[in-house]
Amino acid sequence: MAPELLGRLIDAACAAIDANAELLTRLDSAIGDGDHGHNMRRGFQEITAQREELVALPLAAALQKAGMALVMKVGGASGPLYGSLLMAMGKAADEAAVDPGGVATIWAAGIEAVKRRGKSEVGEKTMLDVLVPAQGALRAAVADGFARQAMIDQVRRAASDALAATAPMKATKGRAAYLGERSIGHLDPGAQSSALLIAAVCGVLEGKA
Ligand code: ADP
Ligand code: MG
Repeated sequence: MAPELLGRLIDAACAAIDANAELLTRLDSAIGDGDHGHNMRRGFQEITAQREELVALPLAAALQKAGMALVMKVGGASGPLYGSLLMAMGKAADEAAVDPGGVATIWAAGIEAVKRRGKSEVGEKTMLDVLVPAQGALRAAVADGFARQAMIDQVRRAASDALAATAPMKATKGRAAYLGERSIGHLDPGAQSSALLIAAVCGVLEGKA
């Protein structure tokens, strides 16, 4: 991937997390321990600190290095989970082409790593409840032969609809699971951060960021 595009993706992801850290913390205060914004900001600040090294790397190595930064820097559950996502995407990026179908394959490998690390599945009110439907939307858009902008619109809409759909769910994984029924009625913080990251990537790929 061109260093310039990789740089814009890093900047957009980091800016989205930084600008929304308070929102993430507020959501995590309602059904967790109120540190998701802090955790994500810390992790993505480390990625920003490594920006120049990251953009000089091939995509596969850059994703693995960024994932490692999240694992090393973030204390909460989300660090190892997002770290696993990026590291597995990096491994898969060694083999897949970076076209829409290849991105869907790379993303799927990342999701499998989150599931393994988190011992989690869709429907448990976690980041997977955004990652999985949004990846599915990309896969479907590729299969249906959508034009690039229509693909981007479909993925972004799927992520935002999936985020909203976490509110009525009862959490069965992560700290929110301790609340049982009382987790119902709140958005999942990790689903929110995933939706923010997906929207940031979509914004860059359509040339708006
Ligand atoms: P912690 O829960 O350790 O305080 P964070 O607050 O940073 O960590 O992250 C919480 C988010 O992590 C949750 O909102 C959820 O989306 C995600 N999460 C927690 N546990 C899991 C899991 N087992 N599988 C997938 N995602 C999870
Ligand atoms: Mg937390």
